[in-house]
Amino acid sequence: MHRLYQVLFVVLSSVSITIGQQIKTPGEFLGYELGTQFSRHHQVVDYFKHVASQMPEQVKLQKYGETYERRPLYVAYISSKENMRNLEEIRINNLKKAGIVAGNPTADAIAIVWLSYNVHGNEASSTEASMKTIYTLLTEKQDWLKNTVVIIDPCINPDGRDRYANWFNETSSKPYDIDQQASEHNEPWPGGRANHYLFDLNRDWAWASQIESASRLKIYNKWLPHVHVDFHEQGFNEPYYFAPAAEPYHEIISDWQRDFQTQIGKNHARYFDANGWLYFTREQFDLLYPSYGDTYPTYMGAIGMTYEQGGHGRGGLGVLNDGGEVLTLVDRLTHHTVTGLSTVEISSKNATQLNTEFKKFFNTSNLKYKSYVLKGDDDKIESLKALLDKHEIAYGNASNGKVNGLKYSSNAPGSMNTTSKDLVVSTNQPKGKMVKVLFEPDAKLSDSLTYDITAWSVPYAYGLETVASTSLIPATPSVSNRVTNTKNNNATGYIIRWDSLKDAEFLADLLKQDIKVRFTEKPLTTDGYTFDRGSLIIVRGDNKNITNFDDLLVATATTYNRKLNAIASGFSKSGPDFGSPDIKLVNKQKIALLSGKSTSSLNYGALWHFFEQQLHYPVTSINTEHLEKINLDKYNVLIVPDGNYNGILNEAGMEKLRPWIEKGGKVIAIGRALQAFADKDGYGLKCNKNEDEDDETDNLVLYADRERENAKELITGAIFKTHVDYTHPMAFGYPDTYFSLKQGSASYNLLESGYNIARIGEQPVKVSGFAGSEAIKKLNNSLIFGEERLGSGSIIYMVDNTVFRSFWENGKLFLVNAIFFVNNNTFEL
Ligand SMILES: [Zn+2]
Repeated sequence: MHRLYQVLFVVLSSVSITIGQQIKTPGEFLGYELGTQFSRHHQVVDYFKHVASQMPEQVKLQKYGETYERRPLYVAYISSKENMRNLEEIRINNLKKAGIVAGNPTADAIAIVWLSYNVHGNEASSTEASMKTIYTLLTEKQDWLKNTVVIIDPCINPDGRDRYANWFNETSSKPYDIDQQASEHNEPWPGGRANHYLFDLNRDWAWASQIESASRLKIYNKWLPHVHVDFHEQGFNEPYYFAPAAEPYHEIISDWQRDFQTQIGKNHARYFDANGWLYFTREQFDLLYPSYGDTYPTYMGAIGMTYEQGGHGRGGLGVLNDGGEVLTLVDRLTHHTVTGLSTVEISSKNATQLNTEFKKFFNTSNLKYKSYVLKGDDDKIESLKALLDKHEIAYGNASNGKVNGLKYSSNAPGSMNTTSKDLVVSTNQPKGKMVKVLFEPDAKLSDSLTYDITAWSVPYAYGLETVASTSLIPATPSVSNRVTNTKNNNATGYIIRWDSLKDAEFLADLLKQDIKVRFTEKPLTTDGYTFDRGSLIIVRGDNKNITNFDDLLVATATTYNRKLNAIASGFSKSGPDFGSPDIKLVNKQKIALLSGKSTSSLNYGALWHFFEQQLHYPVTSINTEHLEKINLDKYNVLIVPDGNYNGILNEAGMEKLRPWIEKGGKVIAIGRALQAFADKDGYGLKCNKNEDEDDETDNLVLYADRERENAKELITGAIFKTHVDYTHPMAFGYPDTYFSLKQGSASYNLLESGYNIARIGEQPVKVSGFAGSEAIKKLNNSLIFGEERLGSGSIIYMVDNTVFRSFWENGKLFLVNAIFFVNNNTFEL
């Protein structure tokens, strides 16, 4: 009796505590039932604040950053009261299991589950689901929280979500219209998917070029959860997709990671089967490219997964799909709530094994390459170190010696002499598997049909000569050098070398300060040093009207850590003197950038981000819809991003461009923008036809093999070696080879009259990634970057897009060179 009374008392008191906490349902709090409106981001934040304030012993809300548009980024930690009291201990203990914090972990088995919602802003049902999920966990599913810490990020892309939600709220009819053709089901350019700079945040985890990703990685790496879910939506005719994922899987994914995905999928299937909801698994969404919300967590030891509900930016509050069913926002958020809860359930049930297997993942002793040794320009090394810091990956400096192994420049066994300036990144560290994924020359592909690019090898992306060694190379703590500059009031001028983006940032700043800068088109030797093409020369005589010229220059150079070389006389020992026609003034270029309909929002966004956040040089965005009435004479350079310009750069559009180019304007066309010029009268650019004679075997392709047959024509992001004309101003700062990331199979002939600045030779050399056999053949002698002169102006053709996702660091200087050095006419505005 006594014991029964005790049990009853405990039950009653816990009920009274729950009632006393007064946590409102999302509907009660928002004033409308969940799924009948799209909630604005601040309302979602307010709901999470409400829950945290009502249940402070079980919910902790943490602000971890702000978006570019100043919306706050939050995560909520949810668990039992006891776990919440020990939250910091649980976190540290988990990092001990990973080997990141020293010391022996205790054996307690708390599962850590991280749920990330709404990375794509217009896949908007999941943020609504996040509110229902936290409410249900705290009211009905307390049992699971006894051994589980749930971390909820209700919206990892608030700017994109609000772009979508605000647009929908202002567009939709009341009641909502289920007709697919209604405006509310057809978003205008650029849509709500991406963030402020129109980056796809689900391609940005590894590069963290965006503030949302960089802020998130800081707290993500403090936790390293055991399970991570990235909630998405697909087209409204699709059902639901959940784990297990499709092939290819990256080879470092463990058997346990594969198996547990299946267990999770089967747990979801129980609920979906019971409700008669359709789903699919093991198709479309693979685990290879490391920059996704499923792969990145996977390579950091979690079970990383993508869940996809049908709906997406065309779903609205309800839409009649092709199957004749009305799919509502209520349906969509209900499904996402079920999979979120089911994920917590199965993780709670398997907490012990999740912990054991998580610990095992961090054993990196079986990796083939033990160290990657990287050599190159200091700035490139520094920029790579900044990337490694974002992931809290350790590195050090080599010493004088020699390292043998796989040499990246020749893609063959070789060796390299090392110095203390070279960087060593080894795999004998907790994040060794991520090191392998990012640095290995070529990821092993279990299947060529993949959702994304198949090559991203960091040494190629950063332009560093690298050797991958099967033995561990010792390293000492890495130090960053600071240069010191002293002014010399007697100097004729100062020279700085030109080979990195830091040099470009320095130049951009000087131009903004109206300091006149020259660059040399030929190498020159003076005062005992040789300076290569592109070196910047800042002459006192050009800048007589600048007060404190030397102080200003020294201060600016110090800001960018540039070495100023004071030169006594403009009379060079060899090469051009300072007054030579080969040493030209850099024009303060006025740049226009096409945006809007017809442009690729991703490429436009990447360019916008590059100028605003990296180079810090102004550009004027021009909407394609206004191109007709724009006065182009106000600009020196027009950048035409990747896009489909059939309707814009038609005959009339091209007629507007041509006279402006002829009198000295410069067009920089990227990716598919080249189609506007290719095979057109008056332009030298020609598509590489080079088509095979009819291949009779084509007729023999089985229907089931059609996708694989098509793959022969594809390049799904692969790295090719290119030959560089380093005497051309667009290539200043580059050596005679450059590794280019090709994102597609488009191929153009070499220019017959014009400059072929980077090109693929007779035998295309692919060093990484998938390229179909037919696609490779078509790349023989094809153009990568070229310049065609037209009257006094130029068209720069960039077949490969060097700002793609902002991670191909070594390609960005080509773009800067094209703007400031190529055909540097003094064009009077
Ligand atoms: Zn998505």
